[in-house]
Amino acid sequence: RAKQAGKNGAQLFDQSMHESVVRRLTTERELREAVAGDQLRLHYQPVICLDDGSCTGFEALVRWQHPVRGLLFPGDFIGVAEASGLIGALGAWVLQEGARQLREWRARPELAHLSLAVNVSGKQLLAPAQPDERLLAFDFPPGLELEVTESTLIDTPEAGAHLRALAQLGVPLSLDDFGTGYASLAAVQRHPIGTLKLDRSFVAPLPAGKRQRAIVASVLTLAAHLDLRVIAEGLETPEQVAALRDLGCRHGQGYVFCRPVPAGEATAYALAHLPGRRPDA
Ligand code: C2E
Ligand code: MG
Ligand code: MG
Ligand code: MG
Repeated sequence: RAKQAGKNGAQLFDQSMHESVVRRLTTERELREAVAGDQLRLHYQPVICLDDGSCTGFEALVRWQHPVRGLLFPGDFIGVAEASGLIGALGAWVLQEGARQLREWRARPELAHLSLAVNVSGKQLLAPAQPDERLLAFDFPPGLELEVTESTLIDTPEAGAHLRALAQLGVPLSLDDFGTGYASLAAVQRHPIGTLKLDRSFVAPLPAGKRQRAIVASVLTLAAHLDLRVIAEGLETPEQVAALRDLGCRHGQGYVFCRPVPAGEATAYALAHLPGRRPDA
């Protein structure tokens, strides 16, 4: 039998497989508790108007305040959530909490202009097991937007119908990580997308790199022809901001402006960067 024939090698393999399965099941069980209990958090990263440096809204990014492991980022648990089916409940929580926060912001006259973008996974777009996880039944407040990636659209072709239905409800849709997939243009052609989020990998080489500038310029031209808003992701230096502004890009996000922060800090940021003023970018 394989185990005997492989001797130690096979046993080590079994052992490490066993450990990774146990780890995964542990994460899954803990994540179930996290979603049901009070361990998920939303951090908010400002979206900046590059013309005047004002904050037009935020992107909500989920975090898990793990009782032992500390603050965990989506890369540590979204995969497990998707594979285990917990993404429905997690996504529903993100939407509820994001909508609650957005309503709170917009109830203040000086913050009534803010938008909030929430990331959604493919499986969330499909008919979920639990009725209260149904995206189409959600009461979207004004200003709430959804972000999907191209792989979401390709992995779950049925998602297209749901996206069209959401767009018909008036929910604005953004294509996240634009340009990193194999069929970004096909996705724009097929789905009711209103915003392109230009992936960080296109922003990073700016302002140097003639070819890179040409690619960004082409995306901006395409977007202008299609009446799409472009948000440049992952802006880290003032030089990148200046280069994008020169190329005609009007919106951006990134550490150069602000990292994703808890709601209180996000509120302070928005109040310090109201539209119409001209703080330095
Ligand atoms: P994303 O939607 O493309 O979000 C942008 C990621 O880039 C975030 O990582 C953000 O913190 C990071 N970022 C922002 N500015 C900069 C910058 O200037 N430089 C660099 N190097 N990074 C920057 P984060 O928060 O770890 O999220 C990773 C991904 O996890 C997100 O990518 C999104 O796809 C997914 N995600 C986050 N929240 C949710 C959620 O609530 N539901 C689902 N389904 N996915 C989520
Ligand atoms: Mg996003
Ligand atoms: Mg992105
Ligand atoms: Mg990304």
